[in-house]
Amino acid sequence: MKRISISLCLYILCVCSAVAQANKLGTHIADDLTCLRCNVIFLDIDLLRADFVGAVNGTQNNTPKINDFFGQSIRFGDVSAASGVTAISNTATLTGRDGFFTYSLLKRTYVDTPPQMPHKFERLYSATPTVAEILKKSGYRTVNVNHGYYAGKQMLLNRGFDTYWGTGEVDSATNIPGHAIQKATEYLKVLSKSNDPYFLLLRSEDLRGLPYRYPASRGKYEDPRVEYRKVDNTHFDIIYQLRSDGKPTVDFPHYARADWLNKSQLSEYEQLSKKLYAQQLRYVDEELGNLFEILEGSNSLDRTLVILYSNHGDGLYDNRIPNHGVSYQSCISVPLMIRHPNVRSPILIDSAVALIDLVPTVYQMLGIEFQHASEGVGLVDYIAGRSPLPARLFFGVDRESQYVRRGYMKLIAWADRSLELYNLANDPGEQNNLTESQPNLAAELEELLSEHELSSLDQALKLILSDKRLGASTQ
Ligand SMILES: [Zn+2]
Repeated sequence: MKRISISLCLYILCVCSAVAQANKLGTHIADDLTCLRCNVIFLDIDLLRADFVGAVNGTQNNTPKINDFFGQSIRFGDVSAASGVTAISNTATLTGRDGFFTYSLLKRTYVDTPPQMPHKFERLYSATPTVAEILKKSGYRTVNVNHGYYAGKQMLLNRGFDTYWGTGEVDSATNIPGHAIQKATEYLKVLSKSNDPYFLLLRSEDLRGLPYRYPASRGKYEDPRVEYRKVDNTHFDIIYQLRSDGKPTVDFPHYARADWLNKSQLSEYEQLSKKLYAQQLRYVDEELGNLFEILEGSNSLDRTLVILYSNHGDGLYDNRIPNHGVSYQSCISVPLMIRHPNVRSPILIDSAVALIDLVPTVYQMLGIEFQHASEGVGLVDYIAGRSPLPARLFFGVDRESQYVRRGYMKLIAWADRSLELYNLANDPGEQNNLTESQPNLAAELEELLSEHELSSLDQALKLILSDKRLGASTQ
């Protein structure tokens, strides 16, 4: 235990001095990030991987509209989601709460058949208010456009919204590509003319594969391995992945590894998967371009924070994962960009932050005092160069895996208790498992992960037990 405390202290010293140094040398610092009563737009483009957004690393050209619109913005280059699935990450992000805490609550309240999150838990969840609830209380008009099943009202995340529109949900199963982005664009045409502040949350699942749903009118990548299966006259489903028996499938469990593919097949399907993902992303980017055009044509951008992020990424066969929902960087490393009226040249933040920092950071910008518990960190003083980032550990959880990250060292613990340790500084693709060469570090991080899991569970159970009605119903 003593060894852990000493190494943690050393680590804190190192991080603080490194950050202070980086800030001294920083190329651009925005002085005033306050944006009182500003409109807030969250563009949650689910499944968007950080490494596919050109504005983040400049190596891809799949997102020209995003790159342009967020060209002069605060751009984070190393953001960890609280989970590789939406149910956990989205809830954690919108409440600013830790992933383990969120998962512990969800595990004891969620049912996997309709009506999903029973409404008897509304009171319990009011102890972890969402950004929509806080902004509504602060006088904002709130609008939610939700695309997808494990989000929105199924997760009681429609709380705090004056206006709610959903698709691809439990009782609105239609899935028309681009529909949610177009709907949000329609809302923005009206909202951007208003003088009263608004909060719009758009959540798009157009990047969800297995299968991608794609407009028939668009150019498409032709390949004998890819089937464009007609849904109706205007849309295709894209089928290309293979089961172990060689049949095309869209049915991969979240955490399944394509272990039946040999090395060359794996590389073949990885390339194919990434081509189709990029094709889908170019489509999503174009749809977002229409939304950006409306915003740019309005005169409201000088009082609007526009934020783009995703709940989690996607495997795309990295680490043999075709789907998402595991702790690898393909699923955990997400984009985060904040277009701020006072920021007129790019601010690039390379230090590690968490997606759950988003909401506390927005409250800071809006000058909203937030009274509830949050494990997220408000980043305004750091972005403005006034203070270093606190040394911290990053945690995340999925059904089959968990991770803890300290600096660049990341430990993944699987449900079968197997461990993987990576140094993301020189191995961002998580190829070289260091558990055998650094067993002490692996054990130390595993202990920190277990401690965190237990303390989060303790917090969640205390909250559940403090809800008298729920306490009564479980006796
Ligand atoms: Zn998702």
